[in-house]
Amino acid sequence: APTLDALKVVNSFADASPDFYTRVTAQPLTDPWLVHANADAAALIGLSPDVFTTPEFLRVFSGAAPLPGGVSLAAVYSGHQFGVWAGQLGDGRALLLGEVDTPAGPWELQLKGSGRTPYSRMGDGKAVLRSSVREYLASEAMVGLGIPTTRALALVASDDPVRRETMETAAVVTRMSPSFVRFGSFEHWASRQQIEPLRVLADYVIDHFYPECRTAPEGAADVAGGPYLRLLAEVTRRTAALMAQWQVVGFCHGVMNTDNMSILGLTLDYGPYGFMDAFDAHHICNHTDSAGRYAWDAQPAVGHWNLYKLAGALFPLIEDEDAIRASLDGYEATFLDTFHGLMARKLGLAAWRESDADLVNALWAVMHRNGADFTLSFRRLAQVHKDPATEAAASAGRETFVDLFADRPAAEAWLDTYRARLREDDLDDAARADAMNRINPLYVLRNHLAETAIRAATQRDTSEIETLVMLLKDPYTERPGFDAYCRIPPDWASHLEVSCSS
Ligand code: AMP
Ligand code: MG
Ligand code: MG
Repeated sequence: APTLDALKVVNSFADASPDFYTRVTAQPLTDPWLVHANADAAALIGLSPDVFTTPEFLRVFSGAAPLPGGVSLAAVYSGHQFGVWAGQLGDGRALLLGEVDTPAGPWELQLKGSGRTPYSRMGDGKAVLRSSVREYLASEAMVGLGIPTTRALALVASDDPVRRETMETAAVVTRMSPSFVRFGSFEHWASRQQIEPLRVLADYVIDHFYPECRTAPEGAADVAGGPYLRLLAEVTRRTAALMAQWQVVGFCHGVMNTDNMSILGLTLDYGPYGFMDAFDAHHICNHTDSAGRYAWDAQPAVGHWNLYKLAGALFPLIEDEDAIRASLDGYEATFLDTFHGLMARKLGLAAWRESDADLVNALWAVMHRNGADFTLSFRRLAQVHKDPATEAAASAGRETFVDLFADRPAAEAWLDTYRARLREDDLDDAARADAMNRINPLYVLRNHLAETAIRAATQRDTSEIETLVMLLKDPYTERPGFDAYCRIPPDWASHLEVSCSS
C-alpha cells in the first residue's frame, strides 16, 4: 500500500537551533474528511496520489499522527502589524511537521489550524473551513499565474465547531514551502538584541536557500557582513519582483505585516486577500484595514517598508549603514524593471519604451474611473487590431474591451493611442493576441467563485473546488462550458466582505 514512510524526512530547521521553536503536538480534528489533495504539490515531494485515500494520509494531515520521521514544532517570530511593532507572535495555529528532502531541495510540510501553541496568545489555534478553502485555492491559483508562492498539499475538514463572528467548522490545510521563515523571524532576535540566534538563523537561511551569498563577487574583497548584505540584496530583489507580479494580476494580499513576508520572496499567508474585480487603484481587500495601509496601490511601497524592517534586523550582522541603504535602494529599479517588462507583455508590445509609461498610466486611469473589470480589461486587449476596420469585423458579436467601460468614448480614445503604439511594432495581430493570451489570465480566483466553492464544501460538495483547481491551474486557456467562471461578479456577490477573521 502507498505510504508516507517512503518520504525522506529531515529536520534541518529543528536542528538549526532549539531557540527557534517549541515542540508541540497537533490537536487532531474529530472525524476528519479529505476535502481535496493536490497531486501537483504531492509530486514535488515524490508522493503518488494513490496515498491520498489511505487512512494514514488523513491521520497525518488532520493532525492525528506525526509525519514519519518528523519533529513537530511551532516556530517563534515577531513582527510589525499594520505599521506598529507587535512584539512576539509565532506559529499560533501552525505546526511544522518536518521537511521532505528531495533532489530539487527541501519542502517543509506545515499544518495550519492544528490547535493551540505557546504562541497562540488569545487565539484558539484553529482555522475555519472558509479561510482554509481560500488559502488552498489561492496558493494553487498563484502557481497557475507563475507567481512565487507557498503551496497547498491537502485540505481536511471536520464538523468541530469554531467560533468566529458566527459558528463555523474547523479545517486544517497542509502547506508546503522550502521554508516558512519570515522577515519577522529576524526581527524577533534583533528586537531582543540576541545576536547569536540572529546569526544562526541568517546562516541557516543562507546555507540552505541562498548559498551563492557566501561568495563575494569575483575580484571583490569580502567583509565580515558580506554574506548577510548579499542576502538582503537578494531578498530585496525577490520581494520587488513579487510586488510587480502581484500588481499586474490585481492581487491584493490584505495583511502585509512583516510576519507575513517570506524570506524566500514567496507569497505567504493567504487571509483576506483578493483578486480585484472592478479596478480601483485604492482597492482595500481586507475589511479590517480601514485606513487602507495595504490597498492595491500601496503594496509596492509597503514591500519596501517591510524590507527596511528586515534590514534593521540584519544590521547587527552587517554594520554598514551605507551598504544597507544602497542595497535597499535597488528595490525601486527591480520593481519598475519587472513591472514594465510585465506590462509590455500584457499589452503585447515588442519591448518596453520609456514613453510607454504614459500609455499605461492612461489605461489605469480610464479603468479606475470606470471601475472596469481588471482581468477582462487586459484579456480583451488581445482582440485589438492595429487597424480598427479588421478589428470591427473580427469582433462582431463578441463582447469587447469597450463594453467594460461605462464611458465608452473614453475607452475608445485610449484604444486609438494604443493602436497607434501597436503600429510602431512589427508584430502581426494574431501572433500578438496569442502571446497576450498566455500572460493575461481569463480565469482568476474572484471572491465570489471562492465563496461558491466554500458554500458547497460546507455541504461536503467538493465539485466547485475541483472545478476551480482545474481552471486556475491553467488560467489562460479558454474552456468551453465555463463561461460563468470568467464573468464579472453576479449581483449577490457585491456585498461580500473578507476580514482578518479566519
Ligand atoms: P495573521 O495575521 O493571520 O498572519 O496572524 C498573525 C498572528 O496571529 C500569527 O502569530 C498567527 O499564528 C496568530 N493567529 C491568527 N489566528 C489565530 C488563531 N485562531 N489562533 C491562534 N493564533 C492565531
Ligand atoms: Mg501570518
Ligand atoms: Mg494568517
